[in-house]
Amino acid sequence: MAPELPRWACPICGGSAHLAFVKEANVCCADYFEGCRQFPTDVGAVDVLECAACGFAWMPALHAWDGARLHTEIYNGDYTLCDPHFLEIRPQKLAAWLAPLCAGRSLLDYGGGAGRLAELLRGFGVAAESYDPFFDASTQPDHTFDLVTAFEVIEHVGAQNRLFAALAALLKPGASLIVSTLLKPMRLEGDHWYSCARNGHISFHSAASLAQTLTQAGLAFISLSDELHVAAREHTALTPWKTATPIQISGQPGFQTAPPWRDFIPA
Ligand SMILES: [Zn+2]
Repeated sequence: MAPELPRWACPICGGSAHLAFVKEANVCCADYFEGCRQFPTDVGAVDVLECAACGFAWMPALHAWDGARLHTEIYNGDYTLCDPHFLEIRPQKLAAWLAPLCAGRSLLDYGGGAGRLAELLRGFGVAAESYDPFFDASTQPDHTFDLVTAFEVIEHVGAQNRLFAALAALLKPGASLIVSTLLKPMRLEGDHWYSCARNGHISFHSAASLAQTLTQAGLAFISLSDELHVAAREHTALTPWKTATPIQISGQPGFQTAPPWRDFIPA
């Protein structure tokens, strides 16, 4: 008789996963900063699973959604309420941080939405382009880059191995890939503020699962902080980044909550 397969297999390592917690799907990350619900309507709950082996966590229900449903229910006209900094404040901060680090290099901002970060970097004299396969029908560049960035992108994507293979394919020899995503501990205990379906956050890496995913894509990496990571095919390409001062991207929310997801108390 064939061995029984685990009920949930981790998409990163194949290890067996357990239910970490169940969360109301209209809770959003901004709620934890504002101390109240931005979307008061209860739309039902989603499961967050967690791999016991590598610590990767994910929302299987949303991994199965197609692009049309994501656009209707997540990336709609109210999306800015979930992440009020994504249109202007974050691109401004990132451009000021990146510009001196990428002088004289070509840069692709992958998953850059309408392209604001690349536009700001061009204002600093950087040869920057933007490509977002999730935002519009723009076509993937047919050339490679000295630097590829993907800020707050990874946690929005279900197929992690396919994503990192695509990112790696855009790197010139000796190039670096900068990604930001907030790493989770190996084991979640209760709620995790970054895990909000309403934000489109559906995939959550531990340091171990990110390392495994990058290794599978043929990339070495270092973490500059718990949310900022630099990867490259060649270890030597990482050396200059070891002394870079990381920028804070997400910040630390001032509130926490728990089922039934109505009350927020100071963290
Ligand atoms: Zn795993």
